[in-house]
Amino acid sequence: MMKKIYKVITLLIITIALFPLNIFATTLQEFEDQLTKYQNELEDKNNQISVSKKELEEIQAKMADIEKQIKEAEDEVARLEEEIQKNNEEIKRKKNESKKLIENYQISNGENIYLEYAFGATDITDMIYRLSIVEQLTDYNKKVMDDLKRLIKESKEKQKELEAKEAELKKLTEELRVQAEKVQGNITSVEGLIPNIKGQLSYYKERVDYYKRVGCKPTDQIGIDCDKPRATGGGGVVGANGFVTPLNYYSYISTGYYWNGSSGHKGIDYAAGCGTPIKAVATGRVYYVGSGKDIYGAKMVLIVHNYNGRLVFSQYAHLSGYAVGSNQDVYAGQIIGYVGSTGWSTGCHLHLEISNDIGWDYNKPGNYYTYIRHIVNPFNYVPR
Ligand SMILES: [Zn+2]
Repeated sequence: MMKKIYKVITLLIITIALFPLNIFATTLQEFEDQLTKYQNELEDKNNQISVSKKELEEIQAKMADIEKQIKEAEDEVARLEEEIQKNNEEIKRKKNESKKLIENYQISNGENIYLEYAFGATDITDMIYRLSIVEQLTDYNKKVMDDLKRLIKESKEKQKELEAKEAELKKLTEELRVQAEKVQGNITSVEGLIPNIKGQLSYYKERVDYYKRVGCKPTDQIGIDCDKPRATGGGGVVGANGFVTPLNYYSYISTGYYWNGSSGHKGIDYAAGCGTPIKAVATGRVYYVGSGKDIYGAKMVLIVHNYNGRLVFSQYAHLSGYAVGSNQDVYAGQIIGYVGSTGWSTGCHLHLEISNDIGWDYNKPGNYYTYIRHIVNPFNYVPR
């Protein structure tokens, strides 16, 4: 069971670690295969969960039944206890009765009470009578007391049996509780895998829909046979200054630039499908790739450009994956990463930010507030 949990955890880690790599599927067929894979996986996990939930319900029903049995045993032990007490009192009462009986006949002293009483008789008939009365009454009480003692002994034995049974039931309950915990643990770990699977699913579904929409055939190499970069429509425009739009396709600009140096929106948000390739807006050098810089963990690429002797910086944020590494030289239009929704983001989009002279942690390391005063409208450089 533990082994299974470790396996699940390992799988979870591997799945998360591999996620950024999965975007390198190259044909529509591969995207469709991935989509099917995650659909099956989701179904499989949901089945696992429902099986485990049923198992858990069965265990809980068993536990409830045992609890009832324990309660019954406890009640029975208490009832027997009462019976024992009652019988003990009855024995005491009988003892007193015998004692009184003997006292009434005034033969309470000595061991030879029968003889004394008997010799007090007026004649032989009276003597026999007297002997038999005492004998009968004391015999009777003795028999009653013996019966009661036997009953007590039986009750105590029954109690012992019940207590043993109770202990056994409690042990069983403990075993079931451990079992239930394990099953619940399985459910929790499988449920933990589902958000990632759903994320993968929606990513591949979006990709497959998109590539079908733009006319890709199953065996087409994406970006080569179909969905080719083009300098028309929503993107891919090369400006007179050599800057290019960061996306070949985007749906619309979801948030425009409005920044006064300290508040507002520092860049342009292009709404585009997750996985859409992102291009460097100009030739330059990548100086940061990662998610550690943004407090919300957005994946980012930062590039420094030399534009007519002036340093210009471009930032690409919320990426789903990277296509470049740090300190890599890139040309205008080179794919550097892919649209995603990492960090503080509610949907797939690219946040493009551009600054003059000062880059984030570039030439004024750590001075974020100096940097943000140098942010400019990306459209000052990038074609609309
Ligand atoms: Zn933004």
